[in-house]
Amino acid sequence: MDGKFGSRDRVQASTPMRCPVCDRELEDTLVRDIGGVTANLFWQVHAGRCPEHGWFQTEVISRPPREIFPVNKPFGAARRVVVDGREVFSFPTVWDSLPREQQRARVDPLDARYWQIDRSRGEHEVY
Ligand SMILES: [Zn+2]
Repeated sequence: MDGKFGSRDRVQASTPMRCPVCDRELEDTLVRDIGGVTANLFWQVHAGRCPEHGWFQTEVISRPPREIFPVNKPFGAARRVVVDGREVFSFPTVWDSLPREQQRARVDPLDARYWQIDRSRGEHEVY
């Protein structure tokens, strides 16, 4: 195991996260348990690398993530990616677009359906 990651990090972990730009399966995936295995709080950070578009990361706290962020490395600084000629610094998920009452429902935070990028939205883009 790579020495730069701690005991709460799982490398080559399975994650519902895919590249938000090309929807490719991510490589070098990493899941860090922040809530801890015994804690009631489900709190994880998921990271992974697209060979073409670089590193992406998201935080999962009891619910599916609202956004997926491009980063320069796992647990590193945010960066921007250019998609169709526009700079983007976060990708809103399908979960974020659900009505608030549906977001209160108890769902599996790792359900891949909620992790898909909502491509109908553009307000998170930087112009
Ligand atoms: Zn990609």
